[in-house]
Amino acid sequence: MTSDRLGTGGESTRGGPARHVVASSGVYVHVPYCRRRCPYCDFSIEIRRADAGFAAAVAEELAARAAELPWPADSLSFGGGTPSALPAGPIAEMVAAVRAHGLASDAEISLEANPEDVTGEVASAWRAAGVTRVSLGVQSFEDEVLAFLGRAHRGEQARSAVQATREAGIPHVGLDLIVGVPVESDQRIGRDVEEAARLGIGHVSAYLLTLEAGTPLERLIARGARAPLDDERQADAYQRAQALLVEHGYAQYEVSSFAMAGEESRHNRLYWAHRPYLGLGPGAHSLRELPGGAVLRRHNVARLDRWLTAPTTAPHEDETLAPAHALREAVAFGLRDLAAGIDLEGLAARRSADPSPIEAALRAARDRGEVADDDGGRRWRLTSLGARFADRVARDVLAARGDSL
Ligand code: SF4
Repeated sequence: MTSDRLGTGGESTRGGPARHVVASSGVYVHVPYCRRRCPYCDFSIEIRRADAGFAAAVAEELAARAAELPWPADSLSFGGGTPSALPAGPIAEMVAAVRAHGLASDAEISLEANPEDVTGEVASAWRAAGVTRVSLGVQSFEDEVLAFLGRAHRGEQARSAVQATREAGIPHVGLDLIVGVPVESDQRIGRDVEEAARLGIGHVSAYLLTLEAGTPLERLIARGARAPLDDERQADAYQRAQALLVEHGYAQYEVSSFAMAGEESRHNRLYWAHRPYLGLGPGAHSLRELPGGAVLRRHNVARLDRWLTAPTTAPHEDETLAPAHALREAVAFGLRDLAAGIDLEGLAARRSADPSPIEAALRAARDRGEVADDDGGRRWRLTSLGARFADRVARDVLAARGDSL
């Protein structure tokens, strides 16, 4: 659906009060269908019409694995691929199936959608099914940029999609922007951000265009059919996007995520907070907390046909993380949440693990000015400088093994 790649980070320009609304458990449904492949995308997707049995297969997998999750869940997210490639009926069926196992009354139910799929009728059906957040893969409102990205929609369709979701009464509407596109003018990002704000968009995910090996874009550039990416211009573009988003009232609460007050994605924060989630569908990931602080990560193998014929027994990979390892991951992920940061002692208690090796790594990062602590050393956050080097700080945390595994 989106490039779903995090940008390189940059000046953290967060503003406003930190809001720590985190789901305690969630469900993710991976919808692998796309109508065509965007040339920059290297996701494992299926270019075909959605199978009629998809929702029933999700319900079957859910029934078999429901005991893995603490219920009720307070977030349900449909990602992909392209969830909007499914008709609204199967979306409603899947929401009902999850609700039957226990969804909190105020649960966030989010769905990624491509603008060309969104009509007033479809958006109203999503709303009737309980969808509370739609994230539109707009990427840009400018046709030249969309043409470079090989997207199926044009700027006018993106505006109509925003309007349709609003008129349907979907409470939270977000969009993705891809920046650093070679054909964009110096004014393009400013115009896109202004348009998002003018349309009343509450959440913007800004991604940097990256060139992935083996993609059609790589081949197009190699044969001179598309302009190449320029590292310096891209870094500038990302910083400009960050600054402009903040100028327009969006607070940066994650490396790539910007939100108006109260518009943060609860489901995204669930991942960063290392809370349990049940991933359904081919290629979906799950995280399960085991007694004693260990964590079980599961990755459904991304083979749609195998999964469709036997959703409860399709191949998957399990990895158990010992408590110390699980704690390092929880901290490395948690630092992505620029506004909330991490409560080291709280996480260490949840994982029954010794926080001292990680604390030493965080102190070293603090000495470099990359993290700051407050609440007497309880809560750690990336600083503006640290947000720029978020991957390096995460690597240091992951390497802070001490004597334990
Ligand atoms: S819509 Fe495009 S970018 Fe999104 S998953 Fe499908 S092919 Fe990839």
